[in-house]
Amino acid sequence: MTREKLAGFDVVLVGFGWTGAIYAEKLTAAGLEVLALERGPWRDTSKDFATTFAQDELRYYWRHGMFQETAQSTLTFRNNGAETALPMRHWGSFLPGNGVGGSGVHWNGQTYRFLPSDFVARSHNEERYGPLPDGMTVQDYGVTYDELEPHFDYFEKICGICGKAGNLNGQTSPGGNPFEGARSSEYPNPPMQMTFSQDRFEASACDLGLNPFPVPSANMSRAYVNPLGLQLAPCTYCGFCEKYGCGNYSKSSPQTTILPVLMERPNFTLRTESEVLSIEKSPDGSRVTGVTYVDTSGDSFFQPAEMVVMCAYPLENTRLMLLSQIGTPYNPQTGKGVVGKNYCYQVMSGATVFFEDEFTNGFVGAGALGMAVDDYNGDNFDHSGLGFIGGGYIACYTTNARPIESHPVPDGVPEWGSAWKQSVAANFLKTATVGVHGASMAHRSNYLDLDPTYTDRHNRPLLRMTYDFTQNDRRLTNHLTPVSEDIARGMGGREVKVSERTGAYDSVPYQTTHNTGGTIMGTDPQTSVCNRFCQSWDIPNLFVAGAGLFPQNAGYNPTATVGALAYWSVDAIINRYLPDPGPLVQP
Ligand SMILES: Cc1cc2nc3c(=O)[nH]c(=O)nc-3n(C[C@H](O)[C@H](O)[C@H](O)COP(=O)(O)OP(=O)(O)OC[C@H]3O[C@@H](n4cnc5c(N)ncnc54)[C@H](O)[C@@H]3O)c2cc1C
Ligand code: SF4
Repeated sequence: MTREKLAGFDVVLVGFGWTGAIYAEKLTAAGLEVLALERGPWRDTSKDFATTFAQDELRYYWRHGMFQETAQSTLTFRNNGAETALPMRHWGSFLPGNGVGGSGVHWNGQTYRFLPSDFVARSHNEERYGPLPDGMTVQDYGVTYDELEPHFDYFEKICGICGKAGNLNGQTSPGGNPFEGARSSEYPNPPMQMTFSQDRFEASACDLGLNPFPVPSANMSRAYVNPLGLQLAPCTYCGFCEKYGCGNYSKSSPQTTILPVLMERPNFTLRTESEVLSIEKSPDGSRVTGVTYVDTSGDSFFQPAEMVVMCAYPLENTRLMLLSQIGTPYNPQTGKGVVGKNYCYQVMSGATVFFEDEFTNGFVGAGALGMAVDDYNGDNFDHSGLGFIGGGYIACYTTNARPIESHPVPDGVPEWGSAWKQSVAANFLKTATVGVHGASMAHRSNYLDLDPTYTDRHNRPLLRMTYDFTQNDRRLTNHLTPVSEDIARGMGGREVKVSERTGAYDSVPYQTTHNTGGTIMGTDPQTSVCNRFCQSWDIPNLFVAGAGLFPQNAGYNPTATVGALAYWSVDAIINRYLPDPGPLVQP
């Protein structure tokens, strides 16, 4: 293996998914020479997601056509420090992306902003409820909702998010989410058309005194032109959205909202099939000098850069920092160290309604087609005496009735055989699910580090994940799941099946691809990896993007907040760092 030194760039981006595209567009617009290194292949809408073959369940879902290839790199998993972690040889619980656009290609498009209180989770909850329990390592972000608001707004305009404001400039706006933080403008597009299930959910939630609102969606309700001049088409509700690319230019993704403009810029270079192996440092460790990557020839290259931005998703960002010996690794015994700290996930549960003579027709679906209530999210309700903090939204989505993936059956039906088949036939297209999308609070015992045993094809340690639901998670889900059941029972079906979240976290069934933490941001270098501008505390010319920055997870999908943080950070690079390179915050 050779290690050729290449000509330098102003900025190297490691990974080219949602955040890579955002940084690349803004930094090239500011005149910098930018190189993106992406380990997966090139993908674009017309060539790769055409409707003639995009709706291929075997290829894209079951055989993981667009996900990280576990033969190339995976992670090991265990529930606690006393267990031996084993490699995940087939993804289950979450599906990290691979290739241009990253997970932004096959995401659903449910695009919620986090609540103002989510960004100050420790100080806000301690002020209202007293000290948090021992072991709960929840922290403030160091950046507030109000500071991020213009960047949320811009991300929504880039994506053309469809929704209804509930809080416009501090004034409650009917039909939207009354709990949301103040918005400076209405959503760029109106909500999607709802179907039978959402109508029933809305009526039932209203009967219970809750406040339903249309889910903010990156699936277009109408034609839209974004601030970069790129056109999106109305969604056809094709039902092959989550886990699939959109051939219709109707789902916001890097491909539809940024790349056609970016790829034309002469100061932007993309190298695909180029996997970054490490971030390189100067001999004194005070600066990054570039990255080492390997391409399909098997050769490795040293790519010099004045600045590196890590856009490789939380799991790989954390692993690369550990492999490159940047920052102090987290030690769960002492609670000291930061890299790998506060890994969090999400706690999902819910209730499925089975209708007798009414059809829900789930095949008329889209990734973010839904109605939700936020009455039990964040600190929107009084937690006094409940023994937990945080919450989650409760929603009724209609995403698909894909024949291999979707066959809900009521309680008591066998899991295979003719009785199961009869039940599938009787209930197919007659179900609706009310799901709880619960937060996961950081705990000292949940973390990421390097596996001592298993290595990848380059003989580098795999990432090891140690994670289980905490007491806070369990109390939270026990409190919210009955609310989803009440809503489901009010929807008028024949029967309801409740799916509680009990037992240990299981890495096999799909839950969400909302992995957070590991490279968290904060106000103190002793407890966080990055400062409030997403800049490494240790090395000022290294920035980190993505949900790895979240000190804990909120009761929402992450990408609106990931996008807002990326625009906030890139704004700081252009307006603060470039005029005066160095630490943007003094420890
Ligand atoms: C099925 C699914 C549904 C989802 N639905 C939603 C939703 O409805 N709402 C929501 O908010 N979020 C959703 N998400 C999450 C959303 O996709 C992510 O939050 C978002 O894509 C994260 O952006 P990112 O830039 O951090 O990572 P990504 O977009 O995944 O990009 C990371 C890129 O880095 C590349 N990379 C990794 N390691 C290396 C390396 N060593 N060298 C070079 N390149 C590397 C990867 O190949 C990838 O292309 C969903 C995710 C999935 C998988
Ligand atoms: S549901 Fe709509 S946005 Fe999603 S893939 Fe189909 S056409 Fe595209």
